[in-house]
Amino acid sequence: MKKHLVLVGGGHAHMVTLKNLHAFIDKGYKVTVVGPSHYHYYSGMGPGMLSRTYSPDDIRFATEHVVTKQGGNFVLDKAVKIEPSSRTVYLESGDTITYDVLSCNAGSYVPWDKVAGDRTDIFSVKPIETLLAAQKRIVQLIGQKKITIGIVGGGPSSLEIAGNIWKLAKDNGKFQPTIQIFAGSELMSRFHEKIRKMAYRSLRKRNIDIIEHDYAKEISTGQISLESGKRYAADIIFLAVGVKPATIFKDSGLPTGPDDGLLVNKFLQSVEHPEIFGGGDCIYFQDQPLDKVGVYAVRENPVLFYNLMATLDGTELQEFDPGGSYLLIFNLGDGKGILGKNSLMFGGRLAFMIKDYIDRKFMREFHEMEK
Ligand SMILES: Cc1cc2nc3c(=O)[nH]c(=O)nc-3n(C[C@H](O)[C@H](O)[C@H](O)COP(=O)(O)OP(=O)(O)OC[C@H]3O[C@@H](n4cnc5c(N)ncnc54)[C@H](O)[C@@H]3O)c2cc1C
Repeated sequence: MKKHLVLVGGGHAHMVTLKNLHAFIDKGYKVTVVGPSHYHYYSGMGPGMLSRTYSPDDIRFATEHVVTKQGGNFVLDKAVKIEPSSRTVYLESGDTITYDVLSCNAGSYVPWDKVAGDRTDIFSVKPIETLLAAQKRIVQLIGQKKITIGIVGGGPSSLEIAGNIWKLAKDNGKFQPTIQIFAGSELMSRFHEKIRKMAYRSLRKRNIDIIEHDYAKEISTGQISLESGKRYAADIIFLAVGVKPATIFKDSGLPTGPDDGLLVNKFLQSVEHPEIFGGGDCIYFQDQPLDKVGVYAVRENPVLFYNLMATLDGTELQEFDPGGSYLLIFNLGDGKGILGKNSLMFGGRLAFMIKDYIDRKFMREFHEMEK
């Protein structure tokens, strides 16, 4: 029987494997990809899609089409559990798939634990598809009245979402909304003072409020309650409180890191099950914790592809080297950005132009696969 490679999630760390799926098929292996959407959305351009700087087609990759075109199977479903003893993946639909080699790139999610009651008009910044639904709702409301939009969280996604809502409203609304960021401790607290100052300046110039030194305690439709007891009304609420790795591994009793990500060794391989691999936000790299940024998922790509093939072929594995510091550029929504890498930090139009160039080039490479 043909050996079976199963990919859970078609995220950023599986892009090179997806691009080269035909190489597995040509060697006589069977490949199945499981994913909850026909497309994968590139998060780096997500806030830009929210503001309509980019269209959904600009930022998404046709996973199903690319898989089936090369002779693989695509299953529209979600993995909920892995049973290594029988090499089985359990799906949300109740179906199961057995594997010889499994690779997981199921990403991360924004916890909703502070949300009480129903979720009307509350949106999390992940999955990126959610931003499209949020965009439609905002455009509908700002055409009718003045609204307030609250963004809970003080990191880069909060900064980018706030800036891009401002742009969406400026270009599409009759009424400019009040935008408030509930930053918890301080806005962009993990970042260098220079970057933080640029972020404050950009937001304040556009009358975007920043509420600091007070954490959200409870969120419900229309209201954000803080630990201090203060309450803020908000017509639309975004959750940008940071991400956690997909829960499948913990739910399956697999070895996980302190954040519940799949614990992998330097080969991006489960420390207990050599036929299970993983990449991106859903893993915990044993040698050193990695930031939850797309940069690492992208860097893991060639090693994952190589090691999946090597495991099927029975040859030697390659080690993953996370590399040194990385470039981050934030899209502020007004045609400007903030760029930071080591001691190089600047803001303005050039920063956004560089981001736009890099992001479009990245997507072009993957759109090529769809042809
Ligand atoms: C708003 C925002 C902006 C960001 N901007 C940047 C940036 O500019 N640069 C940067 O480096 N990082 C950025 N990040 C961080 C970046 O999003 C993540 O580090 C990156 O998405 C990780 O890639 P991934 O492939 O692991 O996960 P994801 O991109 O989340 O992909 C996971 C894939 O798995 C699928 N999936 C999920 N669950 C299952 C399941 N149970 N079964 C099967 N399939 C499943 C999903 O549909 C998805 O296609 C940003 C994050 C956010 C929220």
